[in-house]
Amino acid sequence: MDTYSHLFDHIQALNIIDTHEHLPFESERPQETDVLAEWLIHYFSCDLVSAGLNDNDLSIVRDSRQAIKNRWQIVQPYWHAAESTGYGRALAIAARDLYGVDTINSQTIEQLNENFTAARKAGEHYKFVLKEKSRIALSVVDPMPIPYKETDDPFVFAMRAHDFICPTHYRQMRSAGAEVGIGVHTLTDWMEATRRHIEKHLTANTRAVCLKNALAYERSLLYEKVTYSDAEKAFNELFNNENLPDWRPPIKVAKVFSDWMMHFVCRVADDNQLVYQIHTGLQEGNGNIIYDSNPTLLSNLFLEYQNVRFDVFHMGYPYIMELGNLAKNFQNVFINMCWGHIISPEAARRALVEWLDAVPANKISAFGGDYCFVDGVYGHQLLARQNVAAALTQKVTDGSISLSRAEEIATWLFIDNPKRLLKLQRFLDE
Ligand SMILES: [Zn+2]
Repeated sequence: MDTYSHLFDHIQALNIIDTHEHLPFESERPQETDVLAEWLIHYFSCDLVSAGLNDNDLSIVRDSRQAIKNRWQIVQPYWHAAESTGYGRALAIAARDLYGVDTINSQTIEQLNENFTAARKAGEHYKFVLKEKSRIALSVVDPMPIPYKETDDPFVFAMRAHDFICPTHYRQMRSAGAEVGIGVHTLTDWMEATRRHIEKHLTANTRAVCLKNALAYERSLLYEKVTYSDAEKAFNELFNNENLPDWRPPIKVAKVFSDWMMHFVCRVADDNQLVYQIHTGLQEGNGNIIYDSNPTLLSNLFLEYQNVRFDVFHMGYPYIMELGNLAKNFQNVFINMCWGHIISPEAARRALVEWLDAVPANKISAFGGDYCFVDGVYGHQLLARQNVAAALTQKVTDGSISLSRAEEIATWLFIDNPKRLLKLQRFLDE
């Protein structure tokens, strides 16, 4: 058997950890939907827009109340233009392996939709996709619902600290404070409420396993060291007569305030030795500021908060080499390839080939589906398994590592590394 087939078979047999998803609970999935509406919630819809589809036509294509045949006519040229991207291939794999449709086109779109609808009606679709087809042992879902809710889905959670770092209205702060027994009137009150929330969820016996920060969508990852008094001034803005009444629209707090609060959240994470998952690189959607999300901008946090383990997301794409440098340099920086294998399968393979020369193999997590709908997870995990097998094949073929070391690394990347970093063993024993 050739090296690739050998490694792919080894990887296919693994029950993997899925480090990052946005899946709704199965019982709470949107009911009024069809295959185009659900599959174009995100990702491939952005490639369609990038290919030229306009916003108005996209909203028609997503409208499951209209006939699917007509909507397909609108989307078809853009679908065809984008179908070989990573996002397109993940959907093609899902159509083939979950619904028995080999090619998505005008002849098959109705059949695909019938099979999609029938599978939803049959029930236990998450079990079929996540367990039977994808062989995923556990998924880390972002965000943890607040207030916290139990679920039968195979999930643990990442807790978002956004609302504490970038609060948008006093009413939101008041209710967050009330939940942990604090009246919020000063910046110190707000910091105490933040600490209590984080410690309540992340140091108690809950299913929350880490913090999450996705603020690179709306601001730079450079969190500067600012003074309490400047942050306090910005905090007090929320209490202006203009902003205070419940009916007032939300405001955006000043950068100095979110700088201060991000440092404070890191301090709480440092005190409790928590894992902090951070969005870096490409932002979902069309049109954003990529240089805001360069992972090197986090260097001051990596240096100051050495007890926090930073799980840096999305391969840093396109800052792949920068992320490799950071993970090599800092003991508390880890590489997470979630979303990466569909952003660009080739970039994921190339990155891994390079990282394995520079970064210790216990610091990389290979997979997180990062989908809002479950069918995409299947396509993504298959691409991830293929990519890791291909990258490791290259390392074996060029004589860098042995076949048995390649097998060991594959198991670490898909299971042992995320399991150890996020302390998942107790959930796997359930
Ligand atoms: Zn995500």
